Amino acid sequence: MIFRTLVAAMTAAVVAAAIALPAQAQDVQRSITNVAGDVYRFQNKFHFSVFVVTEDGIVFGDPINADVAAWVKAEIAKRFGKPVTHMIYSHSHGDHASGGAVFADTATVIVQENAPAELDGVVPDIRFSERMSFTSGKHNFELTSLGPGHGTDMLAMVIRPENVAFIVDVVSPGRLLFKDLSGVDVAGLIEQTKKIEALDFKIITPGHSRLGKMADVVEAREYVEWLRAAVATELKAGKTVDEIVAKLDTSAYSGMIAYKAWRDLNIQGMARWLRESGEVK
Ligand SMILES: [Zn+2]
Repeated sequence: MIFRTLVAAMTAAVVAAAIALPAQAQDVQRSITNVAGDVYRFQNKFHFSVFVVTEDGIVFGDPINADVAAWVKAEIAKRFGKPVTHMIYSHSHGDHASGGAVFADTATVIVQENAPAELDGVVPDIRFSERMSFTSGKHNFELTSLGPGHGTDMLAMVIRPENVAFIVDVVSPGRLLFKDLSGVDVAGLIEQTKKIEALDFKIITPGHSRLGKMADVVEAREYVEWLRAAVATELKAGKTVDEIVAKLDTSAYSGMIAYKAWRDLNIQGMARWLRESGEVK
């Protein structure tokens, strides 16, 4: 009797766990997936970062935040049993660059030189201006400063031999620009995108959205350039922002991710930037 009650209680607990798990998984949306070779990307909801398993240790990208960093550190220890020897911040924005203290005990921290003195309590060990590269085991890591645009301390990291590029926020493959372009210098963003086009890689593992290729980088730049020109033309013709939102034919981009949610915001943000930058008087 006691046994049957126990089994019933255990069954109830298992059922409850089974019901609770999908909701929890949906809420957290954490995963680790292989990109190519020894390159892995990990996810926390809408944010992604990267790590590379080399003979000499783990080379790590953005920590994202303290909770994610602690989780992925434990997963890496469990799966690969190696310490994080390098941490490379794509840029200093808090939604990608928080929580790095989790790795500070073992990692050499590398940033572009315009990054702040510390990032969520982590003081970088190495700052570079234009380019730097380093090796770990059989892997080579090429860091390139992308200049101002989205932030002022953005870098791209190309990982070889896999030829994978870690690119955050400047290009999100297949997706529209983030909401209303808040804090983004559009002219700089286009220049940053051209610098990515000049790099040599096969796959992008981005900070947001799906994996991509060079064609996605070109598409992202062409969209920004088209939107900039189209909205400027309408503003110069005396249209209000509301009229442009209502009338502008953006159907060529209707297949892109977040089109329904962010199309109007992209137009409004572009109009605001065109006025603020003085490109349209
Ligand atoms: Zn950012």
